[in-house]
Amino acid sequence: MAKKSRGKRPCAICRKWFQPDVRQKGRQRTCSPACRKNLHRRQCAEYNRENKADSKNNYLAKKLEKAVDQHTSNATVAAISLQKQTKPVLPMEVIVNEYGIKPAVIVQYLIGQTITHGRIHKSP
Ligand SMILES: [Zn+2]
Repeated sequence: MAKKSRGKRPCAICRKWFQPDVRQKGRQRTCSPACRKNLHRRQCAEYNRENKADSKNNYLAKKLEKAVDQHTSNATVAAISLQKQTKPVLPMEVIVNEYGIKPAVIVQYLIGQTITHGRIHKSP
């Protein structure tokens, strides 16, 4: 194929075939500085998204740990349900009694996430 012999490749952003700069020895993935910028932005966005997922995992894990600690060190469920409750206030006592402290914290977290994201997506 011609693309192999002539060293042309498709741009990772705009898909146009381009001739990579020989000095870059095959590392070049985009046809122009504009596309390179675009690719960089895209990779950063991806990185941030993954990192965000990570920090969310850590956040929830810490929250669970803390809740279990408090629960076992005979703090009342009412005390747990009062701390940092986001709207709507959940029947934490019922949830904890029915499912246990961990599911209760997870439910609380998910509700919080849903509310936050709903808010973000509504505002432009
Ligand atoms: Zn391009």
